[in-house]
Amino acid sequence: MELLVTGGSGLVGHALQKLWPDAIYISSKEYDLTKEKDVKAMFIKYQPDHVIHLAAKVGGIIDNINHPAEFLHQNVLINSYVIHYAHKYNVKKLITTLSNCAYPDVAKRYPLTEDQLHDGLPAPTNLAYGYSKRLLDIQIKSYRKQYHCHFSSAIPCSIYGPYDKFGEQNSHFLAALIKKIYDAKKTDTHSIQLLGTGKPLRQYIYSEDVAKILIKLLEMYDEEDPINIAPEENLSIKEIATIALHATHSPHITIQFDTSSPDGQYRKDLSNKKLFNTIGNFEFTPLSEGIKKTYQWLTQKEETQ
Ligand code: NAP
Repeated sequence: MELLVTGGSGLVGHALQKLWPDAIYISSKEYDLTKEKDVKAMFIKYQPDHVIHLAAKVGGIIDNINHPAEFLHQNVLINSYVIHYAHKYNVKKLITTLSNCAYPDVAKRYPLTEDQLHDGLPAPTNLAYGYSKRLLDIQIKSYRKQYHCHFSSAIPCSIYGPYDKFGEQNSHFLAALIKKIYDAKKTDTHSIQLLGTGKPLRQYIYSEDVAKILIKLLEMYDEEDPINIAPEENLSIKEIATIALHATHSPHITIQFDTSSPDGQYRKDLSNKKLFNTIGNFEFTPLSEGIKKTYQWLTQKEETQ
């Protein structure tokens, strides 16, 4: 099987590289997938029969609030060209990733099931990114309908792990938390500040688990409707922070909540019923273990710079 992975240099891409080193991993340095000529050249060069399409402009809440036009423009271009040329160059099987951010901001029932994807508007902070992912769902369905392509999509919950973004402007909550703990320990500070009340719920999955599941889905899943990827746990920000402090041996650090800052979306937990029905049982990496590994990776990276 000739497998090509777009977004091969990202968080999930790196986890896939560990599991499937022989695949072709593409970053934006080789091909800018917002450019039609690059996408075409990539398919002509590699002629893959299988594709895991991960490439996307991805960012944290601040980045999404400040650059909605860029998120929409780049993701719509990348997805349109990659899906189209995967069809033109006869890719036998493709799986791509939507996002939990594409689900409605507030839903009638939780955990969210795949049929609720288009039910109401995504959170205002993620509207552009969320809609680009909803459109990707429609692209998958359209190419399946008109050309009978074996293309499918998965919807992961929030992801963390080595090679995540840890910068102040572009990181997600858990990466930012791990970096704050690292910085506090480095400077012998005994307190960290988190935005909001600590009450919102978040569902996190370790990047290597996402990679393992995507490989299984590439082999086992061939339906037009998306499939959620998520563990059972849905914890409050405060609970996650407490687990992170233990996992990083930082019991001396206390957490201050800046309650004057907004909380963001209250919950967006995904049902994993369909996932288990499709792939059978799966042992997820416990949050404390994944955080420990990510913290060790970050420490090594910071100290070899
Ligand atoms: P990431 O770490 O931000 O990596 C993004 C990847 O896309 C990088 O390899 C990047 O290449 C590539 N890319 C971006 N713009 C490109 C362009 N114009 N041309 C070519 N490549 C481009 O993303 P991730 O966290 O691994 O996410 C993987 C997928 O899962 C994405 O589709 C994302 O939307 C989805 N997802 C992520 C999360 C999460 O919490 N992270 C949650 C749900 C769904 P460079 O390294 O060269 O920039």
